Amino acid sequence: PTSFSLELNTPVYRGTVSVDTRLFIGGSFVVPVESGEIEVVNPSTTKVIASVYAGTAEDVDLAVAAAKKAYKNSWGLKVPGTERARLLKQVADLLEANVDEFAALEALNVGKPFMMAKNMDLKFAVSTLRYYAGWADKVGGKTIETNETKFSYTRREPYGVVGNIIPWNLPLLLLCNKLAPALAAGNTVVIKPSEVTPLTALKFAEIVSQAGFPPGVVNIVNGYGNTVGDAIAHHHDISLVSFTGSTVVGRKIQEAAAKSNLKVVHLELGGKSPNIIFDDANLEQAVKWSSSGIFFNMGQACIAGSRIFVQAGIYDKFIAEMTKVAQNLGSHTGDPFEETTQHGPQVSQVQFDRVMGHIRSAKTAGATIHVGGYQHGNGGYFIQPTIITDVKPEMKAVKEEIFGPVASLIKFETEEEVIEMANNTTYGLACGVFTENNSRAIRVVHALEAGMAFVNCYGLVDVQVPFGGYKQSGIGREWGQEGIEEYMQVKAVHVNLGLKI
Ligand code: NAD
Repeated sequence: PTSFSLELNTPVYRGTVSVDTRLFIGGSFVVPVESGEIEVVNPSTTKVIASVYAGTAEDVDLAVAAAKKAYKNSWGLKVPGTERARLLKQVADLLEANVDEFAALEALNVGKPFMMAKNMDLKFAVSTLRYYAGWADKVGGKTIETNETKFSYTRREPYGVVGNIIPWNLPLLLLCNKLAPALAAGNTVVIKPSEVTPLTALKFAEIVSQAGFPPGVVNIVNGYGNTVGDAIAHHHDISLVSFTGSTVVGRKIQEAAAKSNLKVVHLELGGKSPNIIFDDANLEQAVKWSSSGIFFNMGQACIAGSRIFVQAGIYDKFIAEMTKVAQNLGSHTGDPFEETTQHGPQVSQVQFDRVMGHIRSAKTAGATIHVGGYQHGNGGYFIQPTIITDVKPEMKAVKEEIFGPVASLIKFETEEEVIEMANNTTYGLACGVFTENNSRAIRVVHALEAGMAFVNCYGLVDVQVPFGGYKQSGIGREWGQEGIEEYMQVKAVHVNLGLKI
């Protein structure tokens, strides 16, 4: 079958969800050159819900050829920014009009609560499309004074065909985070969704088509990382690749770029972000923000505040309060389609095993599993919200990204000591500081090696503000003005006004 359709009758969504399961190339849904399929699993039940077509390098070649043709004939700077903006706004409106179906597909495939998908993923996806529609006709170069016989200016030009490789934790949102600035800047795109969560990308292809984008401007090729992803990373006609996912694969993308055409590489990778709570913090607020900072999206967030440093004076109170939040979240764990569900399953068997392995390794290394630590129920990849204490800096659970609902709590005494401990990581994505002392807050966030800092909150991001990491958490920024500038290269033009030689 070339489509998948399911009737849902749930407390939060009643209706049909349907997608075309083929590849979207050159404005049409097509079957891949070689036959190949991927089974899509519902992580709440572990049952297969659909099967989608999987492409190979040959399909990537076709998608890149379509994107190249579209860039030359019907996109790029020959299409005014206002027109690129109009189409992006059109797709944002269509996404908003179908928000429930998209949220249902995300809940079904990722396992995240429907309400979270609707109020977070979809809301940000729509805002990102509108935000970059706003930039499409407002980015340009500048004139630069040099001397009277010369006129110099810069121009911001698109790269041409760009490749976007997407992970499974926020499938549609991260697709929009890449697609919107890429298209606003005038590039055409070849997108590879995660093989684990391909459904919303296919639904998105339908609204791209309805919105009226010229064929080939947006191409979506489902498939595996070592086939489709690898072909994108090595492609000679792709000038820029933007990737979100693991640091291991990020490194492979850079190697592929180096070995092929030196394409520009943007990486949004993992983190092991520190979140620091000083004695003078508002305890109730610090506990709430820190809990959502790690447990949000079942801990499957690159910015998760997974190392929580608590100053000795409030450590006991903090852990007692955070334990209550974790237990309460544990009692709201279950079916993503129940209105009261706040915590769903991990996305896949692989991720479930990986997270449980981290918990076991912490226990073996001498840490205490203060709360949680077990599977919730016995169907689906559910893991209880977990807090680990008595950790040592050299433990795997403290050094490596777990990407699950697992917080490490670490006691500290002084500001100098905690800065040192917080920076003792190869990552540098985000950080948090809770204190009522503003000078200390600013002093500490300036000393932390991270691309994003939250003061008296955690994870409170906005599409207008750049998002990205230091150190091995990545290269480049998404969102904000920086996010669109990443998709444009600068041409410097020197015009002689009369200098003779
Ligand atoms: P991954 O890095 O393996 O996959 C991300 C994307 O890259 C997928 O689309 C995948 O198919 C593709 N890919 C895989 N191998 C590739 C290759 N050789 N060339 C090109 N593309 C390739 O991530 P994962 O397996 O989905 O998750 C593993 C870990 O990655 C997680 O535990 C977590 O630590 C991290 N992760 C981080 C983020 C983030 O937002 N920063 C998101 C998802 C996963």
